[in-house]
Amino acid sequence: MDSSGENIKNVQVVNEEDPICHMKTAGSLKDTAVYKAKVYGFCSSYCKDEFKKNPESYAQK
Ligand SMILES: [Zn+2]
Repeated sequence: MDSSGENIKNVQVVNEEDPICHMKTAGSLKDTAVYKAKVYGFCSSYCKDEFKKNPESYAQK
């Protein structure tokens, strides 16, 4: 499913801020990634990719 350009709605994410660029995820959620059974939200696929390169340093403790 291609959701580019549309915000993701009705998805519960654990982070209020994009850990990469620190945008609020509410209202600008474009992509998500699951890490250690938690769903993280991102403003873009770029931020998701950055997260996936080094999730340990971005994931909530
Ligand atoms: Zn971002």
